[in-house]
Amino acid sequence: MRVLVAQPHGMCSGVARALRIALGALAERPGETLWCFHELVHNEHVVAGLRARGARFVDDLAQVPRGARVLFSAHGVSPAIRAQAEARGLEVVDATCPFVGKVHAEARAYAAQALPIALVGHKGHDEVVGVLGEAPERIRVVETRADAEALRADFPDAREVAVLSQTTVSQDMVEARVADLRALGLAPRFPDRRDICTATQERQDAVRALAREADHILVLGSRNSSNSKRLAEVAQTAGCPATLLAGPDELDALDLSGVRTLGLTSGASTPEELLDALRRRLA
Ligand code: SF4
Repeated sequence: MRVLVAQPHGMCSGVARALRIALGALAERPGETLWCFHELVHNEHVVAGLRARGARFVDDLAQVPRGARVLFSAHGVSPAIRAQAEARGLEVVDATCPFVGKVHAEARAYAAQALPIALVGHKGHDEVVGVLGEAPERIRVVETRADAEALRADFPDAREVAVLSQTTVSQDMVEARVADLRALGLAPRFPDRRDICTATQERQDAVRALAREADHILVLGSRNSSNSKRLAEVAQTAGCPATLLAGPDELDALDLSGVRTLGLTSGASTPEELLDALRRRLA
């Protein structure tokens, strides 16, 4: 079997940066718990490694002792969470990815212009929840056509809509939702640079190119990792069967008979060691 690896693949600059910040904070005060609000990144291996070094993960700041240190993940948080941290006297270590910070700034700018804002993304994802919190009265998460219709119903007099997106969705998804909004009589306004981050875009382009050569593509990444799921979808949309694997152990359950050229890629939160382990197992 020929094995081709997509370039680029794997860990992005935002996740690597968040990890450096977390490891630096742990090393700075050995023995002290570093409280992390939500998973630092959506990868269970990375999260387990941090836990072993003294990090504790919580989904509610009320669980963090007053005055303790709390780390905000690469996915960012809403202003309400920042205010809650301040009210509890928490020392914030902020690992929000700059690409996510940019979407927050855009949301504030459009909200100040009193425009309705369509945030194309996945409901409930940490990043989306954080951006939504910038202006909950003006932002609507638009994941489906029905969501676009609901936005239209909430802003019946609007002629324009600002369009923002989660950094890790596919361009196809953004285009589909923009078409829905146009069909509902709303003229889209975009930020100067679109929100899908460079890392996501480059990894999606690489997997699309790989789909032309491979008979099957394996995407290594956690099942709750948005960008990993998108990579599998992009491969499938390009006509190549694709499977999302959480780790090399899951390889044994796969039927790859008949596959002569296998493509590999990994999500933006997947450590390179895991891909190396998968390659060794394949060999
Ligand atoms: S996928 Fe993009 S937005 Fe998310 S952490 Fe990585 S670089 Fe930042």
